Amino acid sequence: MKAAPKHKPPSLETIDALVRIVGAEHAIRDETAMAPYLVEWRDRYRGKAALVLKPGETGEVSSILKIANETRTAIVPQGGNTGLVGGQIPFESGHEVVVSLERLNRVRGIDLASNTMIVEAGLPLAQAQQVAAGAGRLFPLSLASEGSAQIGGVLATNAGGMAVLAYGSARELALGLEVVFAGGLVWNGLKSLRKDNSGYDLKDLIIGSEGTLGIITAAVLRLFPKIAERVTCMAGLNTLDTAPEFFARALQDAGPALTAFEIMPRIGMEFVLRHGTSVRDPFPFPHQWYALFELTSPREGGELARLAESLLGESIEAGEIADAVVASSLAQGAELWRLRELMSEVQKEEGGSIKHDVAVPVARVPELVARANRLVELMIPGARPVPFGHLGDGNIHYNVSQPPGMERAVFLANWEALNAAVHEIVLDLGGSISAEHGIGRLKRDLLPHAKQKLEIELMRKIKAAFDPNFILNPGKLL
Ligand SMILES: Cc1cc2nc3c(=O)[nH]c(=O)nc-3n(C[C@H](O)[C@H](O)[C@H](O)COP(=O)(O)OP(=O)(O)OC[C@H]3O[C@@H](n4cnc5c(N)ncnc54)[C@H](O)[C@@H]3O)c2cc1C
Repeated sequence: MKAAPKHKPPSLETIDALVRIVGAEHAIRDETAMAPYLVEWRDRYRGKAALVLKPGETGEVSSILKIANETRTAIVPQGGNTGLVGGQIPFESGHEVVVSLERLNRVRGIDLASNTMIVEAGLPLAQAQQVAAGAGRLFPLSLASEGSAQIGGVLATNAGGMAVLAYGSARELALGLEVVFAGGLVWNGLKSLRKDNSGYDLKDLIIGSEGTLGIITAAVLRLFPKIAERVTCMAGLNTLDTAPEFFARALQDAGPALTAFEIMPRIGMEFVLRHGTSVRDPFPFPHQWYALFELTSPREGGELARLAESLLGESIEAGEIADAVVASSLAQGAELWRLRELMSEVQKEEGGSIKHDVAVPVARVPELVARANRLVELMIPGARPVPFGHLGDGNIHYNVSQPPGMERAVFLANWEALNAAVHEIVLDLGGSISAEHGIGRLKRDLLPHAKQKLEIELMRKIKAAFDPNFILNPGKLL
């Protein structure tokens, strides 16, 4: 692991100047009060900071970055602190300043003709969804962390989640941004245009840059028609090998009505049934794999149920699936979703888990899983792969639970070696070592193996152009 970047601690004068910008009541200097900003939710990363600042206006963010740039003070932007790669947590030096966007959380406006809304970066994702629903529209980005994750955070990580298949990831859902750059300049890019071919797209560079190019302070988000009808189905499969054909058929038959297509293995279902509450196996017999998919429409009329029935009939006949259930009510649909949503949580109950968030072309998912499973058995005999996730996006969370009875720490000591070996397979299949969680600190050292030298060089040049003094989230991503 490369050493953490070296930064001088901000002087007392600098700290006082930064505190004055937001006011003492919105600055935290006390170690105990700072604690929630210095650890991520799984306790994988713990850091220290010289100060936590909570600006309430874009102008305050601008003043902070101006001083930070002049004094070479390192800044760590933080949203809801739900990121999974440690990007939002400062290093252990205690020299960095955390800038939390939580107070910058207003809704600036809704434009129903453009089907957009402008919200500030600190608005939690779930609240953005509610604002859209209140206006009779849908904001479709949906993650298990949506209660805490903020709009700035989901854009900075280009978050994906459950509805990418139909609506795209965060990048596709933002038409414009307001960003404060190192040095304090504010870019007002809050356009709500669907068409804008006027040169390099700065918005697309900032989205997914994990706080290393600028601080997002507001965004123009796309809205969609509200869902009026929803049909949730689960299919049981004898093998993962037929899942890509089943998915292709579903996509062909349902087109844009297919809004989610997830898979999970039998062992994952067993974990959920063992540790989850209010859950039951929807099938009378176990299946090796399960595919959960959803059809939605902005119109009512029962068409989706007929579509699901005919799709499932054809797929059973073609041997792609063995059995299927169609939820007959929204409550039953929610029960099926619960089986999928508990998949991460229940793995904790089975001891240590080594995780991978990877993507490969959809058709190669079975090959990925088969090759990785063989590798796991060779490297850690008895370890239990639990690969699950967004098959429709080729995005698999290839998690591996420890062998029963093994010392947790002994198992977790394999983390880096297993990651490296699984990532090698992923790259061989033309995939990505980070499908939706980003690079942050966790995968920073893997990036040179996963990207071409040319790409890394260009990324470094882009970083230097935006942030010549390397004050924005140094040591993350690059
Ligand atoms: C239970 C759970 C489920 C999850 N499920 C998914 C999933 O399905 N799909 C998925 O893609 N992700 C998922 N995630 C991870 C996901 O990345 C985060 O939930 C979310 O995108 C991060 O938002 P946040 O506000 O918490 O950002 P933080 O964690 O605070 O920050 C994340 C990164 O963004 C930067 N950042 C934050 N705010 C700003 C800003 N305003 N300007 C510039 N940079 C900023 C930070 O510096 C950091 O590098 C999950 C996380 C959890 C805990």
